[in-house]
Amino acid sequence: MTGPEVPGTPPPPDPGSQPGGPAAVSAPGDAGQPALADSAGPASLIDESGELRDLASDCVHCGFCLPACPTYQLWGEEMDSPRGRIHLIGQILDGATGTAAAAVHLDRCLGCMACVPACPSGVRYDRLIGAARSWAEEPPAGTGPPPLPPRSRRERAARAAIFATFPYPRRLRPLLAPLRAAQGLRLDRLLARTGLAERLSPELGGALRVAPAPGRRSPPGLAPGLVPGRRLPGRIPARGQRRAVVGMLTGCVQQVFFPAVNAATARVLAAEGCDVVIPAGQGCCGALSLHGGRRTEAARFARRLIVEFERAGVDAIIVNAAGCGSAMKEYGELLAGHGGWAARAAALSAKVRDFTEFLAELGPAAVRHPLPVRAAYHDACHLGHAQGITEQPRALLRAIPGLQLAEIADGATCCGSAGIYNLVQPEPARELGERKASAVEATGAQLVVSANPGCALQISAALAARGARLPMAHIAEVIDASLRSVPVSRLLSS
Ligand code: SF4
Ligand code: SF4
Repeated sequence: MTGPEVPGTPPPPDPGSQPGGPAAVSAPGDAGQPALADSAGPASLIDESGELRDLASDCVHCGFCLPACPTYQLWGEEMDSPRGRIHLIGQILDGATGTAAAAVHLDRCLGCMACVPACPSGVRYDRLIGAARSWAEEPPAGTGPPPLPPRSRRERAARAAIFATFPYPRRLRPLLAPLRAAQGLRLDRLLARTGLAERLSPELGGALRVAPAPGRRSPPGLAPGLVPGRRLPGRIPARGQRRAVVGMLTGCVQQVFFPAVNAATARVLAAEGCDVVIPAGQGCCGALSLHGGRRTEAARFARRLIVEFERAGVDAIIVNAAGCGSAMKEYGELLAGHGGWAARAAALSAKVRDFTEFLAELGPAAVRHPLPVRAAYHDACHLGHAQGITEQPRALLRAIPGLQLAEIADGATCCGSAGIYNLVQPEPARELGERKASAVEATGAQLVVSANPGCALQISAALAARGARLPMAHIAEVIDASLRSVPVSRLLSS
């Protein structure tokens, strides 16, 4: 089965070479429509239709969501609970001026979405906080809600630096060498121990705390075209009988900091009978931008990815980072007001599958070899809460002979990573990380398994801060090791 061709769609430019971010690309049927202009993005969030006000009114103030909320667990403050934040958002929608205090409470929200499945009334908190975030980043003009007070100059500079760097592999990759040099000289630990980094900038302190250590390398000779240190090829053929043709998102943070995870993902998919198509021109999916309230920027990333994957002609698009998959499944909503893009966005969203979700649907074909290890599985919020995927990864792990699955107590509570949260809100993120690391250690597991790069960085840092020597692996690496009969010591040696 193949996807639709897109006649006449022009080749998009490489996002890594775009100083101002991804360029706008055109769509068939959109010729001459201003809907493709950057200003088309946030229009749906000024609530001309009253939809957001209705969503806020759905809250009946019952408080069932409060125990699920990590920030309410931390501080016990009503305004740091989902109910409190919905109240604030409702007031702003009614025309009240957003105060600096209100902006702080909204910024303290992790966006973990634990409150959404916890709410018996089905309140769409995800839509409400998404709108509030966009008011802070892209203040609505004209008839929209009153703008929130601007963040401090330091906060704005930190956010600008993050969004100018992380979504662009070509900008992120050159930072690896100085990072590795600082780690080699243990300057990062010195800065953290003396508290100097925090004094210079809390955001810098947060970044150094979670900066990844040198990664695990893919062993050589594992599958045709997968050579360690080299870019993944554009197409990897299925092993044995072909069962599907899938596209693979390589991501921005994932491809720079965790290339072995992408290689493992491709190997597993090929071993399970999939032709794996990896479009070379793909860029960031826009998840960081979308979850940070930068909807215009996110829409530009989304349009580019839509063009790339339409051209690829695939049955499904496989994503191995929870936040990215969650954002891509929202493209339909993100581009709803963008003329001819709306249908294309919805079509792409319908094809997006988390790696574990897809494997569970496909069913196993390749033989699993024993992997004798006690592993704790960590639920990434954007997989568990936002996509409702909790059983599939556990079933895949349980299907590995010899693997003993351990559950983490209070596993539905966020680890504090939450996109860029651990960079811009380092103190609560550190506290949540400590709680998570403590719960992980209590499982007695030898290995921690996750499906999101941000969670891996956050939990690794929190475990290291406790002096715990517990390795982390992506679930793709664990399945890959089982399929290839890799000794478990290789996974545990990272
Ligand atoms: S998204 Fe998470 S942190 Fe924010 S209100 Fe909901 S549960 Fe609390
Ligand atoms: S968001 Fe839902 S669970 Fe929370 S107070 Fe409102 S109605 Fe109750």
